[in-house]
Amino acid sequence: MRHFDAHCHLHDPRLDPWRDAALHQARSVGVVGFACCAAEEAEWDAVMALADSQPGVLPSIGLHPWFVAGAAAGWPARLEARLRSMPWVGVGEAGLDLARRGGGMASPEAQEAAMLLQARIAMDLGRPLALHGVRAWGRVLELLRPLGHHSGGWLLHSFSGPAELVPALAELGAWFSFSGTITRHRATRSHAAARAVPADRLLVETDAPDILPILGEQALQVPMVPRDGKGRVVNLPANLLVNLRALAAVRGEPHDRVARCCHDNAQRLFGPLLAARS
Ligand SMILES: [Zn+2]
Repeated sequence: MRHFDAHCHLHDPRLDPWRDAALHQARSVGVVGFACCAAEEAEWDAVMALADSQPGVLPSIGLHPWFVAGAAAGWPARLEARLRSMPWVGVGEAGLDLARRGGGMASPEAQEAAMLLQARIAMDLGRPLALHGVRAWGRVLELLRPLGHHSGGWLLHSFSGPAELVPALAELGAWFSFSGTITRHRATRSHAAARAVPADRLLVETDAPDILPILGEQALQVPMVPRDGKGRVVNLPANLLVNLRALAAVRGEPHDRVARCCHDNAQRLFGPLLAARS
């Protein structure tokens, strides 16, 4: 069975010592597609270079809320120009993080403006937009609603919003991607959301090298447990299978059905980009 990691950051320098082995390991367990997002302009080239050198890596470029304050003037025009010249590239990671304050974080207003700029570019170009939300999914819905339905798709990465928001977001063209958060027993809100998502909008991701799932017995099957410079365990794309298993269990559905559904959904969402590439 083939699997598609709907959101990750495989160009991240924390993966430098492990990248080739991690991709090999992922492919050996069937993970053959990787939607890889750049979070700031300084990463755009790295994501494009990885996509050029590694089969199955689908690049996406944008400005993440953590990097809005430090973004160089003129970034929206440069982003749009790059995207126009490369029809196989997605938009994002963009979004809103209302939990982080200070420490160089942009104000909520500035984050919203950056997110809306990227949403408009994604709609103009008909591309999927990867969105990050922390304590912000209600506000994301308020901001997206006036834009109307986006046929290119809003990819709500590591979705953990309230289940009640799912129908309204789905109506606007949202797809819901579940990360390692779903493996945590206490993540009851994520579990409720995962049960509320319609089967044709369900995705699974690793967010590697971040959001390490609770590996449990699976850890025995993951021979490589790398650590970053601070000694923290680094998440790898092969762990997508751990997240898939948890997602199926939470939804109370057979693993194979959920796996097939997430893969087919990724093919539909990213289909236009994959077609533009080939
Ligand atoms: Zn991410």
